[in-house]
Parts: sequence; C-alpha cells; structure tokens
Amino acid sequence: MHQKASTAGELRVQLADVGTAAVRSGLVLASGGNLSARLPGAEEFVVTGAGTWLDQLVAADFSTLRLSDGALLDGAPTPSTEWKLHWRTYQARPDVNAIVHLHPQHAVLVDALNEPIRLITLDHANYVRSIGRVPYHPNGSDELAEAAALQATLHNVMVLTHHGCSALGEDVGMAFRRAANLEEAATATYRLLLLGNRTLTFPVEHLARLHHG
Ligand SMILES: [Zn+2]
Repeated sequence: MHQKASTAGELRVQLADVGTAAVRSGLVLASGGNLSARLPGAEEFVVTGAGTWLDQLVAADFSTLRLSDGALLDGAPTPSTEWKLHWRTYQARPDVNAIVHLHPQHAVLVDALNEPIRLITLDHANYVRSIGRVPYHPNGSDELAEAAALQATLHNVMVLTHHGCSALGEDVGMAFRRAANLEEAATATYRLLLLGNRTLTFPVEHLARLHHG
C-alpha cells in the first residue's frame, strides 16, 4: 500500500490491507467506517459495500460507482450507506484518489469535548497539517456529504462530529497514514488533557516551515 496503484485489482488489495491494518491497530472496531479509491483512467471509484467487515475485505466486497452521477455500476454489492461522503469529496477534490473514513474513538471523543485535536509530533504535523470539523449530520445524508466536501477544499483530514474522520490522499497509503496520525494526535491530546495540559503543540514556527516546504 506504499506504491501508486496501477490497476483496479491492486487498489482493492490496498484498501483491504488498510482495513486489516485499521482494525488490528485498534484504530477502529470491525465495521466502523468505509474505504474508497478512484479508479485510474476511469471516471469511477470503488467503495466498500454495506455491512462489510474492514478486516475481512475481499474483491467482491467493493461496489463500483460512477463519479458524475453516483450510479452503481456492475450491479452488486450495495455500497456503504456513506457512499455519498466519498462521492462528493472526489468531485470537490480532483487530486484526491483515496478516502479513508473511520470511526476512531479518541478523535471523536476529543472533538466531542470541544477540545482541538493537537498536533504534537513531526509525523502529526507532516501528515495531518490541519484538521477540519464537520458538524453533525445523520450518516449517509446529503448534508453530511456536502459539509465534508466543503471542508475537503481546505483540509486533507477532517473530523465528523460525534461520528468519525475522513482522511484524503493522493494514494491509499497516504490517506491511511493521515487517518492513523489523526488518531495518534487525538490520543496524545487526550493524555495531555488528563495531565491538565491545554497548550502543548508542535512548534508553530516549524509547522509554518513544513507548510512552505
Ligand atoms: Zn461513518
């Protein structure tokens, strides 16, 4: 999952690897989220099907949808109820080729406390950079998809309040690294809050240099 994908089959394998890694690392419970990738050379994307288990994904678990109108291609399976979240973001961000949407506990918890998730380490700063916040809307709704697509014009990582996160990447590996670093930053923030610390962050002057470098 660290190389650019060249075929639709390889993309499905990369997404399945991400699903396994997300569950094994405790980032998410077995079915808390969904994964997608834009198909190379086609105006289509694949997204995990409804009711799939992230750590047991096989090729048949992915639905193929058309980017222009969201039409389901190839019949089965029924896409995740959250397919519009992926669809609208791909439309808003032509440079994004993969989206990892997960329900990681610390990111959702810290955000729900109305505390900013703080970037502490170089990896947090490098991969996450900035975090958008999407107000709560029912999962699967047009409102959630539109609000997330709006934030996606400003950030590669966003928290969907009381729900989960959406991490974008030019490839599957980058989208996953961003999601993983968001949750690590949120876990660090949670620990800092327990310690009574509300100020520690990655040095602002170095963050500015990363942005320009
Ligand atoms: Zn979700």
